[in-house]
Amino acid sequence: MPPIDEKLEAILADVVHRNAGEEEFHQAVREVLESLGRVIAKHPHYADQALIERICEPERQIIFRVPWVDDRGLVRINRGFRVQFNSALGPYKGGLRFHPSVNVGIIKFLGFEQTFKNALTGMPIGGGKGGSDFDPRGRSDGEIMRFCQSFMTELWRHVGEYTDVPAGDIGVGGREIGYLFGQHKRLTNRFEAGVLTGKGLVYGGSRARREATGYGTTYFVQSMLESRSDSLEGKRCVVSGSGNVAIYAMEKIRAFGGKVIACSDSNGYVVDEAGIDLDLVKEIKEVRRQRISEYARRKGGDALYVEGGSVWDVPCAVAMPAATQNELTGKDARTLLKNGVIAVGEGANMPCTPEAIRTFQEANVPFAPGKAANAGGVATSALEMQQNASRDSWTFGQTEARLAEIMRRIHDSCAETAEEYGAPGNYVLGANIAGFVRVAESMQALGV
Ligand code: GLU
Repeated sequence: MPPIDEKLEAILADVVHRNAGEEEFHQAVREVLESLGRVIAKHPHYADQALIERICEPERQIIFRVPWVDDRGLVRINRGFRVQFNSALGPYKGGLRFHPSVNVGIIKFLGFEQTFKNALTGMPIGGGKGGSDFDPRGRSDGEIMRFCQSFMTELWRHVGEYTDVPAGDIGVGGREIGYLFGQHKRLTNRFEAGVLTGKGLVYGGSRARREATGYGTTYFVQSMLESRSDSLEGKRCVVSGSGNVAIYAMEKIRAFGGKVIACSDSNGYVVDEAGIDLDLVKEIKEVRRQRISEYARRKGGDALYVEGGSVWDVPCAVAMPAATQNELTGKDARTLLKNGVIAVGEGANMPCTPEAIRTFQEANVPFAPGKAANAGGVATSALEMQQNASRDSWTFGQTEARLAEIMRRIHDSCAETAEEYGAPGNYVLGANIAGFVRVAESMQALGV
């Protein structure tokens, strides 16, 4: 493990002790604390008032029962979570994840990351995250609706436009947000548009929100390459996943002249040397909700499907992990380097293991951490909140232009902060410090 000064080491030990077994949370905290040594050395007051200890402890954690009735009439029970991590900069803001792997540690790691990510956007949003261990796979539309309604039957009392504003994440897209919003409206008798983001356009959603996370990640990678006098033009790219983030990252890569030749899901990956056919991926994933293996079946001999294995075995210049946490390991990073990767941008939250990140950094491959590179989604959620508050609705072009400008600012602030703290090109350090400083300033101003 890299050195981390004694005080921060003690704080980390305490976090590990008090959140036993929550490895992803420890990993996320460790990475941030490793960056903070340099800030404390330069500005010791940021360690006053137990500020770092407070930043590592969620303000509130809600765990609740979610009972629902399946299509056979059986009563099922899942566990619901909302971790309201930090409200120093605004109402808690962050997605809901429905996936069988969800537990309090996963939600805590996501809420912690979200706090810094949201700070980096420069917008007035705090950090939070929620979800359930519910597995939406194979569930009928009616089951999804009843689950979402039950979930909101508890959640509504904890959320609100000035309190906590959830959105989607893995397993929660436009359909689920619609059911959640409908139930919130029924229970409160209020059309409170600003209580959720990622809404459908007809009932208060923002244009470009669906595209925002993937587009934003690609904008970030493009900026990173431009700062090295390069670009995505003509580059072979691999994007893992095939959900909302991956689809729109691929779309923007193509707009920048790059070529995506592989994407994946949790069962396997597809390689299409002609370039991934996005209309087909959208039809398979967004309309039919099928597995990515269907892509190869539909393409006949033109595309290859590999069951299991690692999509990172496919040689590429630019890698964008956009599936889930810790999906890209040290071994994958070494394979990518051997195959000539020149840039890596995280579309998902913490998809690269610490060893993978170190491997890229030691090889001087520019690496964009998720909390900076995938911040376009939540930033556009904040734009959706702005539109809701002013009862306005912007065009796609206006919204995307704001997104592009925000991503450029995040890129520049990470790069400048890294430079200022003596680690030029280290976007991890830049993102952690720039995010931390904004949260810390506010927390100190607001008192203990
Ligand atoms: N789940 C997304 C994220 O990880 C979006 C959150 C939001 O829009 O509130 O940032």
